[in-house]
Amino acid sequence: MRHSYALIFAIVLTSCVNKMTKVEAIASKDKNSRPNIIIVLTDDQGYGDVGFNGCKDIITPNIDRIANNGVMFTNGYVSYSVCGPSRAGLITGRYQDRFGFSRNPLFAPNDPNMGLPLSEETLAEALSKVGYKNMAIGKWHLGAHESFRPLNRGFDEFYGFLSGGHNYFPEKLIRNNLSEVTSQFDAYNTKLLSNDSRVEEQDYLTDAFSREAVKFVERNHENPFFIYLAYNAPHGPLQATEKYLNRFSHIKNKKRKTYAAMVSAVDDGVGELLDKLEELNIDDNTLIFFLSDNGGPEKHNASDNAILRDGKGSLYEGGIRVPFALQWPGIIPKGLVYNKPIISLDIFATVVSLADVTTKNQIDGVNLMPYLLNKNKEYPHEQMFWRMYDGKSLAIRSKNIKLVKYKSPEKQLYNLENDTSETTALNDSILTIKLSCAYNEWNYKNLNPIFLGLKHDKQYDSLHVDRWNNIKKH
Ligand code: CA
Repeated sequence: MRHSYALIFAIVLTSCVNKMTKVEAIASKDKNSRPNIIIVLTDDQGYGDVGFNGCKDIITPNIDRIANNGVMFTNGYVSYSVCGPSRAGLITGRYQDRFGFSRNPLFAPNDPNMGLPLSEETLAEALSKVGYKNMAIGKWHLGAHESFRPLNRGFDEFYGFLSGGHNYFPEKLIRNNLSEVTSQFDAYNTKLLSNDSRVEEQDYLTDAFSREAVKFVERNHENPFFIYLAYNAPHGPLQATEKYLNRFSHIKNKKRKTYAAMVSAVDDGVGELLDKLEELNIDDNTLIFFLSDNGGPEKHNASDNAILRDGKGSLYEGGIRVPFALQWPGIIPKGLVYNKPIISLDIFATVVSLADVTTKNQIDGVNLMPYLLNKNKEYPHEQMFWRMYDGKSLAIRSKNIKLVKYKSPEKQLYNLENDTSETTALNDSILTIKLSCAYNEWNYKNLNPIFLGLKHDKQYDSLHVDRWNNIKKH
């Protein structure tokens, strides 16, 4: 009897020691203990469209698991209010204006300048320097030219599509390769790419991307890995299967119902991924970030940005503040609510710090760990900036004060702490000047856009008459 107590004690002690050793190893950046990284990025999902931000008609139990297991950010931002530039910022940890990625890129596979400049280092490129296996899944949107594709930007594997959006039903994926693409939106119908090969997908697109993420974890769980899981849901076209639509008979608005079903499909995928990590006992060594790439275009896809003003494309809060959560069980306390402003650029900074990687370029994000572990009680950012070059629009957030100029000749000042919906502009000319100066100082080093964007499709066609000629087939 005494013997078995001793055995139990020894097992418990060993388990504690193992746990301590793991935490200490991570803290000391032992390369064998580098954490796995998963970024789950949704597309055009509204701030209010997750359970942890109070959504009532769409339940998202699995996305909520991330927030409940770790931290929900009530003031989590992206660096732009539409897809392409937001992704360029996220994947480089730098304001995309630093390198002229200030527009949504056009689909132009022949153009070696229409994409994320090769001078930039992606998070995958950074992590590959210390032995991570990296996979990009879903929407790429950082350039369709050969040189810009995921396998040439630090990813070991890719499963997805190159353009800014895609059809979800497999029977709609009718174009065999890029030689059959002759307009911007033809790319929505291409067959998917598995690395460099076109494949015949049988599943609803969101399910396919979840499946591939789970399979990658199964193949790579013994080494550090990074998954960039960029769902195109719930970006248009609004398409959902009966399996998911059937969950929302309580929603009468057809558009909202389909949108809800698309979000629910993502939620199932997140659940499958979380279950797999737990099954393999690697959940406590895996950081999972969840966020949307920009605010919801409410009229377009029936998303809901809750009390935030405006939506996708705007520099008011609804365009740039997004649902944002992170879990790292055992390290980050459960159920944390972090209210100070943070930005998607911080993901890069946090990850390279944990993985102990020296970055190629100067980054703009901040390592969030000291703030989340309550070792630093200050604001992670003195100021955060947004620039829309074409609309001559700008925004600055300095702690709780925001200066914004969007579709208005005047700059407006808001206190977001008591006016989250940006309804009542403050009158403080000295503060306006001060923040304008900070913006100018930040903007001074930015580049003008290096390519024409989605809004210049016709202009681009007239300047590039060979846009659709002699495209490499794959
Ligand atoms: Ca988007």
